[in-house]
Amino acid sequence: MSDCIFCKIINGEIPSTSVFQDEQTYAFRDIAPAAPTHILIVPKQHIDSVNAMTEADEQVIGHLFNVARQIAAQEGLSEPGYRLIINTNANAGQTVFHIHLHLLGGRQLKAMG
Ligand code: 5GP
Ligand code: ZN
Repeated sequence: MSDCIFCKIINGEIPSTSVFQDEQTYAFRDIAPAAPTHILIVPKQHIDSVNAMTEADEQVIGHLFNVARQIAAQEGLSEPGYRLIINTNANAGQTVFHIHLHLLGGRQLKAMG
């Protein structure tokens, strides 16, 4: 998607602080971190949101969680703990319509609500 900010980050048009990448996935630090560790894990393939997922995307989306597990370990978060979030549409506060998994940690996180 030519006007998608995360597609531009993936292809290097917009700079980012890379944390991890493989064939399917790119992970980078959030520009406005909400916790000491705040990393966004995205599929290189453009998918708007969970609402736009199909069965064909199950493997690539599942892979985001396995990558998150590895990054959490690298960041020293496995034992203290961390939170994984995917926002979908307005009520959840989704602002970028390229599906992404937030990895948050490094402090006590407040209860969800
Ligand atoms: P959402 O609210 O859609 O779940 O999350 C979008 C996230 O992307 C936000 O946490 C926001 O700070 C982050 N973000 C937006 N634009 C950029 C950018 O250009 N670079 C980086 N690294 N993060 C961004
Ligand atoms: Zn995109």
